[in-house]
Amino acid sequence: MAQVNCKKCGRQVNAQVKYCPFCGNLLKKNILARVFFFIIAVSIIFIIYPKLTKKIDEEMLVEYTDPSISITASRLYEIYEKNELAADENYKGKVISVNGYIDSIGKDMIGKFYICLKTKEGPCSIKCFFDKAHKKKVSSQQKGTHVTITGRCDGKRGSVLLRKCKY
Ligand SMILES: [Zn+2]
Repeated sequence: MAQVNCKKCGRQVNAQVKYCPFCGNLLKKNILARVFFFIIAVSIIFIIYPKLTKKIDEEMLVEYTDPSISITASRLYEIYEKNELAADENYKGKVISVNGYIDSIGKDMIGKFYICLKTKEGPCSIKCFFDKAHKKKVSSQQKGTHVTITGRCDGKRGSVLLRKCKY
């Protein structure tokens, strides 16, 4: 009869038994549990991990790429007003540089700071969100100042939104 060494107490036990008769140690691990953990491990390595790193890459991209598009607040809003779908094609998800006059500076419900750029269409046509790291800079700005803000365009919901902004 085949014998194996119990990993816990070190004594030789019958390979067919599930538990060590001396110390009660589980000798045969549940195959299903092993398969289950194997699948989890594989998912983490091949599915979740690349997604996480990709997400981080996208966030970093905003910080480090130069904006390929430079536009005035009025022009950007006008383009969005004319055809939102076409505007999304051109601008959504892209890092753009928008210049205009500050209408207001504030904080939204989740504590993100924003600067609204006005156009002739309205006081908050372009809403630019900043991380907390930019709080000082954002709060030192004044109404009516002409600024150029770089951020990732996130389409139009009332205002045209710019996220992860910086100067
Ligand atoms: Zn044992």
